[in-house]
Amino acid sequence: MVLTTTAAKSDAGDVLHCTFASRYVRAPLPRFKIPEQPIPKDAAYQIINDELMLDGNPRLNLASFVTTWMEPECDSLIMSSINKNYVDMDEYPVTTELQNRCVNMIAHLFHAPIGEDETAIGVGTVGSSEAIMLAGLAFKRKWQNRRKAEGKPYDKPNIVTGANVQVCWEKFARYFEVELKEVKLREGFYVMDPEKAVELVDENTICVAAILGSTLTGEFEDVKLLNDLLMEKNKETGWDTPIHVDAASGGFIAPFLYPELEWDFRLPLVKSINVSGHKYGLVYAGVGWVVWRSKEDLSEELIFHINYLGTDQPTFTLNFSKGSSHIIAQYYQFIRLGYESTGRFDIVSKDVGVPLVAFKLKDNSQQHNVFEIADSLRRFGWIIPAYTMPADAQHVAVLRVVIREDFSRGLAERLVADIGRVLLELDDLPSRIMKTGSLSAAESSASSGEALLKKSVTQTRREITAYWKRLVEKKKRNGVC
Ligand SMILES: *Cc1c(COP(=O)(O)O)cnc(C)c1O
Repeated sequence: MVLTTTAAKSDAGDVLHCTFASRYVRAPLPRFKIPEQPIPKDAAYQIINDELMLDGNPRLNLASFVTTWMEPECDSLIMSSINKNYVDMDEYPVTTELQNRCVNMIAHLFHAPIGEDETAIGVGTVGSSEAIMLAGLAFKRKWQNRRKAEGKPYDKPNIVTGANVQVCWEKFARYFEVELKEVKLREGFYVMDPEKAVELVDENTICVAAILGSTLTGEFEDVKLLNDLLMEKNKETGWDTPIHVDAASGGFIAPFLYPELEWDFRLPLVKSINVSGHKYGLVYAGVGWVVWRSKEDLSEELIFHINYLGTDQPTFTLNFSKGSSHIIAQYYQFIRLGYESTGRFDIVSKDVGVPLVAFKLKDNSQQHNVFEIADSLRRFGWIIPAYTMPADAQHVAVLRVVIREDFSRGLAERLVADIGRVLLELDDLPSRIMKTGSLSAAESSASSGEALLKKSVTQTRREITAYWKRLVEKKKRNGVC
């Protein structure tokens, strides 16, 4: 890149800037001491930008889970809040509110036992590492308090994990003086074995940490089995050993792809969960979350109440100032993407089989059926068949997409977007599915729900028109119209 030639005035008189920054880089770049003299801003930009060219391209970095692309609209939100210090909660109350909304959404996503409108307990952090430090401290403090109350020694806390844990757990152990007891892996089994983990648990164990999405292989550990085995052990021993789930990478995957998988607060011993907002939370590096099952699981003594410019502000984080942009970006992703692209379909086809996707509406009582969806998709050019299954599954109606060689990622995304658009449109229309009996005057030959489902849109439309015509005729005759 060549800078435009500019003339600038300085105190020393007229200075003609060169057309490239090279004039400023004849001497070695400053590495140890702040240089004596300032340089023009375009030269500073050029020098740094050139050096950064040697960094890898984040989009090609397939080594990391961390987000490298966001929509330009969100980039714009990020840039416009880049000068907001998150900790100035009194000055930026909306940002604080957005963080609280994110915490609530995550806690609900993880099935925390809280009411619909109840606020959840949790906090935004710099990443899962800070989140894990906080969760670990909460367990340590809780365990210590119990041991003190029982008059037992509380100087040898330990934590049980698999040997596959992410390095931040080792950090936690070393920084906060907790012994890490690791379950060894073995060939062919690269996650924590719940049975072995429970064997390692003793009276000094502050928690067992399970990983949802092992860093090494991506595999989910069996948190349900761990919960069940630990419940038994707690019952036998009278201990109260809890579970933390490190869902840094899996926390925003499992609830969407495997909603039936029980790994979260549905399991009674799971007391806290961390998740990285900057991994599958789809925000750039710099945000993580930790949520607790309930108030009781976070010792009040760890919460600092800052009287900040006249208002009480409870905080539980390791540092004070930080940017607001990531919190805002996380809220953007939640409301922008929603729970699922539609959330309304169940996939009927199996993972093993020819490459096609057959899917049905989750809820047959919805006011529109798959035939209407297929019909509306035609408008966007998509030809997607809708059909009912043969006997005795004829009440199941599905849509089917065959994936062929030329079906690209781009087309797939377009199709998903168009399905979403069609669903929105249909939602705004009155139901065209006739409920049996509701159109008793219509010249409807079909009366069973099954036959109604098979009816084409045109047929349905025709019947509705006929019904209204008859109604109007009748009113005319009565002279009311
Ligand atoms: C990435 C990761 C961490 C660390 O999370 P950061 O958000 O990078 O601090 C911890 N545990 C697991 C399982 C991870 O994948």
